Amino acid sequence: MLASFTARGRFWRGNLHGHSSASDGALTAIEVCARYRAQGYDFISVTDHFMARFGFPLTDTRALRGNGFTTLLGAELHAMENSRSELWHILAVGLPPDFAPPTPTETGAELARRAAESGAFVAIPHPHWSHLTLEDTRALHFADAMELYNHTSQVNCDRGDGQVLYDAALFDGLRFGAIATDDSHFKTADAFGGWVMVKAPENTPEALLAALKAGHYYASQGPELMDIRRDGDDLVVACSPVSMISLGGARAGTVNSHGDGLTSARVSLASFAGGWCRLTITDAAGRRAWTSALWLD
Ligand SMILES: [Zn+2]
Ligand SMILES: [Zn+2]
Repeated sequence: MLASFTARGRFWRGNLHGHSSASDGALTAIEVCARYRAQGYDFISVTDHFMARFGFPLTDTRALRGNGFTTLLGAELHAMENSRSELWHILAVGLPPDFAPPTPTETGAELARRAAESGAFVAIPHPHWSHLTLEDTRALHFADAMELYNHTSQVNCDRGDGQVLYDAALFDGLRFGAIATDDSHFKTADAFGGWVMVKAPENTPEALLAALKAGHYYASQGPELMDIRRDGDDLVVACSPVSMISLGGARAGTVNSHGDGLTSARVSLASFAGGWCRLTITDAAGRRAWTSALWLD
């Protein structure tokens, strides 16, 4: 997690999860890219539902790259069945354009594994919306990340938060990163509510994918993290103005700083020694940014 702030390059803002009219989104991929670009995003991935009823779309956005904006090829993969006997949803960003459709017998874990082996960044989306369990996270233990926040699940059914299952997975020893995404369909106000900031030397698909795979990112709804450094038993944080800087983790209780327009804090890691912790910053409007877990073992 700390390597995000020492890695070479700068932070690029992107949405890793969204749909176009190639599956169940309202807008064409051209229009989806135009909307994000107009909002100042540096990159997105259009991740249509990779299902037979949509013709297994792996939406090709390569022609929409250029002039400071880029795209990663991706898809939301599906297979039966998760621990609730429901369809798996698996986010895969950085897929090769010829990624083969699932076979009828391929399990969710096998499909996710095949995506990871193809080089993609694999994430567990909307865990609360899907009512996923620890059994599900164990099945996808090799995944890169979990959605800590899914904007469309928040806007449309008040189940956007993935924090409880994320923490449970960490207690279980799983080392997922934490991302925020829109999962935009542009049918409701479901866009521009959660994103990742990826630290990479340049805004190219290759550099962004390498940075994602290396864990060089944080998740946000608005606040910016400028720097996080470890100084002995403390974590030293610099950020855009917020009203709370809070560290929670593998012990009950949190270490936090409150104030108006806080832009820095020094928080003690001591109570999380031997375990993990993660940082949340919250601005005056209640918008948050989150780091992935920091392991202290
Ligand atoms: Zn989904
Ligand atoms: Zn989706």
